[in-house]
Amino acid sequence: MNIKERLNRILSTLSEGVKLVAVSKFHPAERLQEAYDAGQRIFGESRPQEMVAKYEVLPHDIEWHMIGHLQTNKVKYIAPFVSMISSVDSERLVEEIEKQAAKHNRTIDILLEVHVAQEETKSGWSEEELRSYIASGAINNMTHVRVRGVMTIASNTEDESVVRNDFATIRRIFEELKPHFGEAFDTLSIGMSDDYPIALEYGSTMVRIGTAIFGQREY
Ligand SMILES: *Cc1c(COP(=O)(O)O)cnc(C)c1O
Repeated sequence: MNIKERLNRILSTLSEGVKLVAVSKFHPAERLQEAYDAGQRIFGESRPQEMVAKYEVLPHDIEWHMIGHLQTNKVKYIAPFVSMISSVDSERLVEEIEKQAAKHNRTIDILLEVHVAQEETKSGWSEEELRSYIASGAINNMTHVRVRGVMTIASNTEDESVVRNDFATIRRIFEELKPHFGEAFDTLSIGMSDDYPIALEYGSTMVRIGTAIFGQREY
């Protein structure tokens, strides 16, 4: 199957209102162009410099989503054009995005990344940390950052019950935070190549799929 066929197969399983982020990290711009020509407009990258390089050579109606861990000193590179930062995992990062977005007279959408998986290595706020950050009210003062929802990476395991438990947990957190943020808080970003059919059962509104579209990455 080529990229177009893979994209269409995935899209046919998504109900209306579920967005597909084509995770294109480590793939060359030509492969993204192929997906673009098949109609895909949202691309996810994990490294700022790589995103900038692709932004410069690809059509400008692409929505770029930063999905990987982002260092605060790198925000400035992507702030002029990035649509969404899905991997926001600290107060310092929120503040830096606010500052850089203001500089460019923009509003940047963000997702709060919550750590729900068993593995120690996953980034993101713990539920308790996130609760206390939100309770502090600091995030209410942001005028160039729009909090659109939450994101998580489920446990990397063959044990489906563990994955389901992760998705159930993030869904609960999403529902609990909704009233605090209101209308714009509409995004539950869960589901990758291996687990997106399960994520859809838990109400995913945004899946982030790489390998199933572009094939294996060569790191
Ligand atoms: C790489 C990555 C993905 C895509 O993973 P696949 O298994 O290739 O679909 C999704 N989300 C995040 C945060 C990633 O870093």
